[in-house]
Amino acid sequence: METIPFNKPWLTGKESDYISQSLQLGKTCGNGKFTHLCEDFFEKKLGARKCLLTTSCTDALEMCAMLAGIEPGDEVIVPSYTFVSTALAFARQGATIVFADSSTTHPDIDTQQLEALITPHTKAIVPIHYAGVACDMDAILEVANRHNLWVIEDAAQAIDSFYKGRPLGTLGHLAAFSFHETKNIQCGEGGLLVINDEKLVKRAEVLWEKGTNRAEFFRGEVNKYGWVDTGSSFLPAEYVAAFLWAQIEEIEQIQQKRKALWERYNNGLKDIKGLLLPFIPAYATNNAHAFYIVCSSLEERTALIAYLKENNIHAVFHYLSLHKSPYAVQRNWDKASLPQADRYTDCLLRLPLFYELTTEEVDYICHTIRTFYHSRP
Ligand SMILES: *Cc1c(COP(=O)(O)O)cnc(C)c1O
Repeated sequence: METIPFNKPWLTGKESDYISQSLQLGKTCGNGKFTHLCEDFFEKKLGARKCLLTTSCTDALEMCAMLAGIEPGDEVIVPSYTFVSTALAFARQGATIVFADSSTTHPDIDTQQLEALITPHTKAIVPIHYAGVACDMDAILEVANRHNLWVIEDAAQAIDSFYKGRPLGTLGHLAAFSFHETKNIQCGEGGLLVINDEKLVKRAEVLWEKGTNRAEFFRGEVNKYGWVDTGSSFLPAEYVAAFLWAQIEEIEQIQQKRKALWERYNNGLKDIKGLLLPFIPAYATNNAHAFYIVCSSLEERTALIAYLKENNIHAVFHYLSLHKSPYAVQRNWDKASLPQADRYTDCLLRLPLFYELTTEEVDYICHTIRTFYHSRP
C-alpha cells in the first residue's frame, strides 16, 4: 500500500490553459489581466476596499509592517504558536516581538491575556486565524481601539471563512492571505494583501511597485512616475496570477470537498476518549483548512505518528513555539512562559487533508487512530 501523503497540491486542469493565455498576451510581468481578475474577485468576495496580489503571504505581511510604519523600538504582539513569517515580517522592520499565548480550547491567541502585554511602545496586534477558524475579533478590536493599535490579520489559512458572518481578512486594518501549495487554493507560491482602510490604498500601491507611483501613472493621474517612497517588488508575474485564476474558478467545489472530508474525520474520531478534536467557537465558521487532533502528551503524539507511519499514513505536527526559537532567544524575547503554545507544540497533530483524499482513506485513517488508542493502557 502506498503511503497516504499529508498534502498533495491539486490542479484543476485549467492552470496550463490560463498560463498559455497569459503568455499570448505578450506581457509576462505583473499587474496585467489575470492579476486584475484575481484582485477584483477578492475585492468583491470580501467586500474589501483594495486587494493586491503578492508573491507570498510573507510579502503581504512585510507590506503590512511597512504600512503600519513599524520601526525600531515598537512592540508588536504576535501569538507564539504561528508560522515564522507572522513575526518575521515585523521583526525585520526593527520591532520587538511580544509573544502571546494560545487559548486553552484553540491554538488562536488568548484574548484574555492581551491587555497585560500592552505597554506604551505597543504598535500592533497580529492575530492568526489558526486552521482558518476565526480569533475572537471583537475582543481583539476592543483592546486595540482602546489603545489605538493596528490590527493586522494573518489570514494565511483563512480563505472563505467568517467571524459573526463577516469575512476573515476584513476585520483588521490590513490582512494577508497565502496561496502556498499547502493552502486551500494555491499557485505554488502566492499571497494577497487586503487593505480595509481607504487611507492606506495609495501607499500600498507604491510599496508594491518598488517605491514608485507607477499605479497612479497607469491610471493617468500623473504624467510621469518615479521614486516616491520605500517598497520592494512584491507583485507576481502574470502567469502566476493565471494559475491562481484557475483555482479561484473552482473555489466552491474545492471547499465543498474539503468540508465533507473534514466532517468525516470529525464524525469518525469524535467518540475516542481523551482525544481532543478541533473546537469551532459559535462566532466562527470552519473552512476545512486543516484537521488536527490534540494528544495528551508529547510521548503519546510521538507514538501515534510512528504508528500511523507503520500503517502508511503521513501525519505531521505543526509549529514550534516561536518564543523558544533560537532567534527569539538571541534577542531576549523569550521571557514569558507560554504553557498553551508549548502544549500545542508538543501535542497537536495534523492529519492528511487535501482535495484528492478519498472518503475510504479518511475512514482508514480514523480506524487506524482508533486501533492505536484501543491498544494503549
Ligand atoms: C502559510 C502561512 C504563512 C506563509 O505563507 P507564504 O505564502 O508561504 O508566505 C504565514 N502565516 C501562516 C499562519 C501560514 O499558515
